[in-house]
Amino acid sequence: MSRTVYVNGEYLPEEEATVSVFDRGFLFADAVYEVTTVLDSKLIDFPAHMARLKRSLKELEMGAPCDEAKLLEIHRKLVTANEIGNGLVYLQVSRGVADRDFHYPEPGTKPSLVLFTQSKDPIENELLKTGARVISIEDQRWGRRDIKTVQLLYPSMAKMAAQKAGADDAWFVEDGFVNEGTSNNTWIVTKDNTLVTRNLSTSILHGITRAAALRCAELLQMKVEERPFTIEEAKSASEAFFTSASAFVCPVVEIDGSSIGKGEPGPVTTKLREIYLEESRKAAL
Ligand code: PMP
Repeated sequence: MSRTVYVNGEYLPEEEATVSVFDRGFLFADAVYEVTTVLDSKLIDFPAHMARLKRSLKELEMGAPCDEAKLLEIHRKLVTANEIGNGLVYLQVSRGVADRDFHYPEPGTKPSLVLFTQSKDPIENELLKTGARVISIEDQRWGRRDIKTVQLLYPSMAKMAAQKAGADDAWFVEDGFVNEGTSNNTWIVTKDNTLVTRNLSTSILHGITRAAALRCAELLQMKVEERPFTIEEAKSASEAFFTSASAFVCPVVEIDGSSIGKGEPGPVTTKLREIYLEESRKAAL
């Protein structure tokens, strides 16, 4: 079935939806994005995704395409038009269309806005049941990973390296410490049941699911440390997992060929995922 997508004010069949070859997103990766999960046709963590979008735009001195109420309306229209029960909505804003020049175009240039849905059910993700196997890889991305830009080539290369190694994902390591996964934030559970995840900085994306999982950990009265950890520490942890809007709280059972804990999804990860899903559904829009 052809999807209805949103492009710059119009709802169109996907075959008819186009952007200009002069779009700065296409030429310079001068664009930011958000991915919002849909469960039971409702949007998970929508206000937090919009707050991060605003922050990304501000950091890049890019104009907003419209206000948040309009963005909510577009999200909902696409969910309805494409009959999305469980899936996601992808949103991308670029600096707009201008003659190719490294300088930003005139301040009045209209940003391009594109949204589309994907119907892949995140709940059906096999890795949630089996746990993921990850490899470590040097972090060679640019330094502003806190801005959610569409410069995703290095993460894409890392995913391919993981696939070639027979693994499911890669964890980026810099100066000996784990930053995050290719498209997720990384966590370990120490032997004394403390949750550890890297502190926020420009080194990592400020994950919406990371923030939600921290709130869940508080509900569960778990001890949390926001600090860097090494691959060696992760290998000797009792559990490991990653968080992202589309993978929720996903167990990691192997790092660089070493089994983590019992080599199967652990109880803390499972509990956290359950609470996360429960809380997210309650707050869904
Ligand atoms: N880090 C990176 C590099 C990501 O691409 C993502 C997914 N957008 C995340 C972390 C997780 O962020 P969120 O929980 O907001 O999906």
